[in-house]
Amino acid sequence: MGSPLLRLTNAGLYCERGGFFIDPWSPAAKAIITHAHGDHAVKGSRQYLTAEPGRLILQHRMGAGAKIDGLAFGETVDLNGVKVSLHPAGHILGSSQVRVEHHDEVWVVSGDYKVAPDATCAAFEPVRCHTFITESTFAHPHYHWEPQADTFAQIHDWWRENQQHDKACFLYAYSLGKAQRLMAGLDHSLGPVFSHPWVEEMNALYRQSGVPLAETRTPQSGVTCEEWSRALILLPPAKRWDVGFAIMGNYSTAFASGWMTLPDGPTQRRVHRGFALSDHADHDELLAAVAATGAQRILVTHGYIDEFVTELKSLGYDALAHRTPRCGTPPRVPETVQMKLAFE
Ligand SMILES: [Zn+2]
Repeated sequence: MGSPLLRLTNAGLYCERGGFFIDPWSPAAKAIITHAHGDHAVKGSRQYLTAEPGRLILQHRMGAGAKIDGLAFGETVDLNGVKVSLHPAGHILGSSQVRVEHHDEVWVVSGDYKVAPDATCAAFEPVRCHTFITESTFAHPHYHWEPQADTFAQIHDWWRENQQHDKACFLYAYSLGKAQRLMAGLDHSLGPVFSHPWVEEMNALYRQSGVPLAETRTPQSGVTCEEWSRALILLPPAKRWDVGFAIMGNYSTAFASGWMTLPDGPTQRRVHRGFALSDHADHDELLAAVAATGAQRILVTHGYIDEFVTELKSLGYDALAHRTPRCGTPPRVPETVQMKLAFE
């Protein structure tokens, strides 16, 4: 048996036959990028290939001089005899799974993915393969997402409640992806929606890429006291401790993230409320996604790696850890929560 079609090197996941990397963490001659989040796309590669819907966003993040080609979902390119195609991952606009085929052997690299519908990007598509490299951000039975309509209803209730007390709503969300998904799902008739300039920058790229998002203003453009008492402001998490806006009056804070299902989620992020809206698949969705590929060999990366490998093995898969410098350690799910799950 020859060397594997894809292998981990010091610079990232590499296809020697095809001469390309997938989401390398060092600059490469040719980099295929699943999506433009900072832990998947780094500057400095000579040539990039990404799904066309995400090209403008990647260009913005990699710099105007970066050479980036866009590939339509499902279209195949031949790279030194290796067939490569990109398929929707449903994570953010233009996020893709990378399908790599050589001599009837097929690998799929998931990147980050979610299966819940998202009005701002193409829906996740299962792709048949022999080897599937899956993320495992929320691959612990604790993580189970409620229907997103319920989560949006909770956000709207929080918004209305704050309006009754003349409080502005600060809703923290990742500026690329989550903020736009929120914008698309919010009921804008409830009150004015403002975006932090970092979020607004991404909103503009989404609109340029053809995603219809409602017009928003930045708080810097001027807010009246009456607007403030009814407003919802989308801010990046990095601005959580920025009290600049707070001097304008009363406010309540919340964070939209899958981590908010952990009992100390909101306290850890120092916010009043947490809303469990994630751009990743939950535990059961990951299991279903793995099954849908038909793959026997599963490489698990980024998240609850050991837990998911053990679980997949118990289900009869040939599962292995695929640990990279980007993996980190996931938060421990408290034992009280684990106990509760055991008795459910
Ligand atoms: Zn991501």
